[in-house]
Amino acid sequence: MGDEDMKIYNTLSKQVEEFIPWNSKEVKMYTCGPTVYSYAHIGNLRTYIMEDILEKTLRFLGYNVKRVMNITDVGHLSSDADTGEDKMVKSAKEAHKSVLDIAKFYTEAFFRDTKKLNIKRPDVVSPATDNIEEYIKIISKLLDTGYAYQANGNIYFDTSKLKDYYKLTNMKAEDLISGVRDTVEEDVNKRNKTDFVLWFTKSKFDNQDLKWDSPFGVGYPGWHIECSGISLKYLGEYLDIHCGGVDNIFPHHTNEIAQSEAYIGHDWCKYWVHGEHLNSADGKMSKSKGHTLTISTLEEKNIDPLAYRFMVLQSHYRSQLTFSFEALELASNTYKKLRKKVSSLREDEEINNSLKEEYIAKFKEIIGDDLNTANALTLVYDVLKLDVNETTQKEIIREFDKVLSLDLTKKIIEKDVDEEYIKEMIAKRNEAKLNKDYGLADKIRDELLAKGIKLNDTRDGTTYEVL
Ligand code: AMP
Ligand code: ZN
Repeated sequence: MGDEDMKIYNTLSKQVEEFIPWNSKEVKMYTCGPTVYSYAHIGNLRTYIMEDILEKTLRFLGYNVKRVMNITDVGHLSSDADTGEDKMVKSAKEAHKSVLDIAKFYTEAFFRDTKKLNIKRPDVVSPATDNIEEYIKIISKLLDTGYAYQANGNIYFDTSKLKDYYKLTNMKAEDLISGVRDTVEEDVNKRNKTDFVLWFTKSKFDNQDLKWDSPFGVGYPGWHIECSGISLKYLGEYLDIHCGGVDNIFPHHTNEIAQSEAYIGHDWCKYWVHGEHLNSADGKMSKSKGHTLTISTLEEKNIDPLAYRFMVLQSHYRSQLTFSFEALELASNTYKKLRKKVSSLREDEEINNSLKEEYIAKFKEIIGDDLNTANALTLVYDVLKLDVNETTQKEIIREFDKVLSLDLTKKIIEKDVDEEYIKEMIAKRNEAKLNKDYGLADKIRDELLAKGIKLNDTRDGTTYEVL
C-alpha cells in the first residue's frame, strides 16, 4: 500500500479522484504501446513521458507497480474505425521489407528514444503477435455469449448489447456515430455503426503476410482486442490504471472496455488516465500526417532529449501543448542552467535530514496531486534558495529526480568530450606513464575527472566510466 495520498484525474468519472487500487499490494498499470510502423514522434513521446511520471510517482509514494505495455505489430488499420490498410503492412510494402523486420526495427528505435528521455522500460513489453491464443479465447467466449457475431467472414463486437457503451467519453452517441460514418468507407457488414472488428478473415489485401489459424478462419486480430488480451493475460481481471493519449479515448479505449467487461462480466479498470496532445503550429501532430519531429530531429539540432522532457514537465499533462523550436530552445537554456547549477553543488557536507524529509513530503504532495510536474519544478528552484548547505540541497533534488528523471545531479559532459577525445587522452596518459612522467599522467586523469569521466586502470588496460 502506498503510504501517501495520490490524486489523479479519471476520464471515467471526469474528475480528480483519490487513488485507491483494487488490491492494496500491487498497482496494475497498462499503457498502450506504439504502433511500430515508423519512428515515434515527439507528440507520442509526450504521452510516454506522462506515463513514466505516473509510474514513478506511484513507486515514490510507496506503491508496488506492475506495468505492462503492448507493441502493436498487427491489426492497426489506417483509420481507427477499422477501415483502410494495415499500417504495418503499408510501411513494410513501401520499404520492401517484411512486417516483422519493420516491427523489429521500429521497436528498437522506440526503446532507444525512450531511453534517451529517461523513460523506464515497463516491466512487461509484449508484441501483439505473441498473444494470438489469448484473443482467440476472448473472441470465442464473446461469440458464445452473443456479444460478438460473424458477418461476411469477419467477427464483430455488437455494441448494442451493452448498457453503456459510451461511458468513457463526453461525446454524445450521435456525434460519435457521425464521426465513424465520416471515415473513408463504411463497412456494410456491421449491424451497428459503432461495432468493431475483433478478427479479420476477409482482408482486402492479399499481401497481409501475418495470418493465423483460428476457429473463425485464417486471419488476424483487430487492434482493440490486442490491448484487452494482453492486459487480461498479464494483469488479470482487475486493472487499476490504463493510460494513453486523448485520441485513444474513442474508439480504442471505449472498445477495450466494451469487450473486456463483456468477457469478464464485471467492471474492469478503475482509473483511465489520458495525456493531452502535443500539437504542431498547424494542428495535431500525427504519424499518419507524415510529421517527422523525432528525437533524432532534436539531436541533429544539438538539443538534448532531456531538454524536451523538461519542456514537457513545465506544463500539465492535461493541457494541450503547442510545439515550437523557439519554446524548446528556451526550455533547453533553462534546463542547461538548472542542471549546471545542481550538478556542481558540493557533496561533502553534513546533510540536514529533517529538512530533507520536509521537502520530500512537499514534493510528494505536489506530484501526488494529479502529477503537477510544473509545481514540482518550481519546488526544485525553491530548494536552491533554501538557507542550508549545498549537499542537503543536492540530496533533496536527487530524491525529486527519481520521479522527474532529468539527470539534474549528474555531471555535465562537455561537448568536446566524446569517445574519440577520451581515447586520445588515455593514449597520451599511457605514453606519459611509459616516459615515467607521472605528473602529466595524473594531470590528464584529473582533467578528465573534472569533465565527469573517471578512468579505471585494469589489468587489460585503462577503461573509463561516465559519472
Ligand atoms: P500510436 O503509436 O500511434 O499508437 O500512438 C502512441 C501513443 O501516442 C498513443 O497513446 C497515442 O494516444 C499518443 N499520441 C498520438 N499522437 C499524439 C500527440 N500529438 N501528442 C501526444 N500523444 C499522442
Ligand atoms: Zn491500447
